[in-house]
Amino acid sequence: MHGMSDASIHRLGQSVLGYAEGRLKLHPVPLDYTLTPEQLLDRAGQTITAEGLGGQRAMSLFEEVLAPACLSVDHPRYLSFIPCAPSDAATMFDLVVSASSMYAGSWLEGSGAVFAENQALRWIADLAGLPESAGGVFVPGGTIGNLSALVAARHSARERATVAAAKGERPHRPWRVAATEGAHSSIKSACDVMDAELVTVPPSEELRLTGSALREVIEREGPETFFAVVATCGTTNFGVIDELAEVADVCAEHGIWFHVDGAYGGAALAAPSVRERFAGVERADSFIVDPHKWLFAPFDCCALLYRDPARARAAHTQKASYLDVLTDTPDWNPTDYSVGLTRRARGLPLWFSLATHGTDAYATAIERTLEVAAYAERRVRESEHLELVAHRDLSVVVFRRLGWEAGDYQAWSDRLLADEVAFVVPTSHAGETLARFAIVNPQTTEEDIDEILATMA
Ligand SMILES: *Cc1c(COP(=O)(O)O)cnc(C)c1O
Repeated sequence: MHGMSDASIHRLGQSVLGYAEGRLKLHPVPLDYTLTPEQLLDRAGQTITAEGLGGQRAMSLFEEVLAPACLSVDHPRYLSFIPCAPSDAATMFDLVVSASSMYAGSWLEGSGAVFAENQALRWIADLAGLPESAGGVFVPGGTIGNLSALVAARHSARERATVAAAKGERPHRPWRVAATEGAHSSIKSACDVMDAELVTVPPSEELRLTGSALREVIEREGPETFFAVVATCGTTNFGVIDELAEVADVCAEHGIWFHVDGAYGGAALAAPSVRERFAGVERADSFIVDPHKWLFAPFDCCALLYRDPARARAAHTQKASYLDVLTDTPDWNPTDYSVGLTRRARGLPLWFSLATHGTDAYATAIERTLEVAAYAERRVRESEHLELVAHRDLSVVVFRRLGWEAGDYQAWSDRLLADEVAFVVPTSHAGETLARFAIVNPQTTEEDIDEILATMA
C-alpha cells in the first residue's frame, strides 16, 4: 500500500489528478442527482473487498457512479441552503494540503501552515475591526465554531463566579444563552450539548435582535443567569443582520460575553457597499465566519476568532501527559482554541486563494453576488405573481408565489432538480412555505435568476 512504485504513482496520479483537473475545467459543472441506496448498490455493487478493486477501477466507480450521485454545490443555479463556491485556486490547494501530511494543531509540528492560516485569520479580524490581540483557529464549520465560542464564554463566566465566591459573594453559575429565533439551529444544539438553556428574544418587525428587546428579556430573567448573547450577522433563512452595536451595549452593561455568528454573512464585511451594516461587530468577544460559505473556500472551513484568545485557551487546552511537550510552551497552538484536538490545515486553501488573488478580488466577487441578489429582489418586486417576504440585507432573497401552497413549492422544486435545471428548495417562515434564493456564487448570473423565475409563472 505504501511506497507504490513511481510508475504506479504516475498512472494512478494521472487518473486522480486528471479527474480533478477535468472537474475544474467543467463550465458549467453538471447539477447531478440523488440516488437511493438500492440504486447505488445496483450500480456500484460491493466496493470493499478483501483483495481490493485496484485504483483505476475504484476511480472509475467514483467518476461514473458515485460523483454524479452528488449534487454540485458550486453549480450557479444551486441556490438552496447556503451553497459553496470555492475558487479554483482554493480547490487546487486542497489537494496540496492532503498531499503534504501536515499536522496543524500545534506550532511545533505545523509552524509554516499555522503562520499562513494566522495571516488569513488576521485579514478577517481586520475586516471585523477586532484588536491586534485577537486570534483563533479554523474549525470544520459554524456549528463547531459556535460551540467552541460558547464553551469559552461559559468557562469565563464560571471563572468569574469562582472568584466572586472566594470573595464571599453569593455564588452563581450562569447557564443561559440569549439569541433570537432567527439564530442558527447550531446555537440550540450547542446549548443542548452544554446543558445550557437557550432563551429566545422576540425579534423586531425586520426580524432583528435589538438592544431594547434583549435588555427586557435579560433584565426579566436575571442578567447574572446569562453567560453569552449570540447576535447573528446574516441569519441563514433571511440574511438579516442583528443590531450589533445595541446588543454590544447591553452585553457591556451586564458583563456578558458577546458572540457574533457570521457563519454566512460575515463574509460581506469584505464588501464596502454593505460594510456599515456590521457596525458593532468590532466589539465581539468572539466571532465566526465560514469561508466555505461566502469566502470561496472548499468544505470544511470556519474561521473562529476571539478578542482575548487567552480566555479561549483556558477553556479548551487539553491536558494529557503525552501532550506536555506542546502545552508547556508559549507557542500558538491552534488546537487550544476550539473543541477538537487533531486538525487538518483547513485554512490553507483560503490562504492560498487570498495570497494568489489578493483581497480586492474577494471584495469584487462578493459585491458581484450582492448585485445578482439585488437583481433577483428587483425582479420579484416587479412580478405580479411574486411578492417579497422581507427586506434584503445581504444575498438571501425570500419570496412567495401568490396562489401557491406548500405542495406547489415542493413540486416546483422537485421538477427543477429532476430536470437538472436548478436546486432551489423551499423554506418556511411563521408556518408559511416560501421560495428562497441564497446567492454566494459569483458565477450565478442575472440570466440564471430569470431562468428560474420563469418556471414560477
Ligand atoms: C451555516 C450556519 C451555521 C452552521 O455552520 P456549519 O458550517 O454548517 O456548521 C451557523 N450559523 C449560521 C448563521 C449559518 O448560516
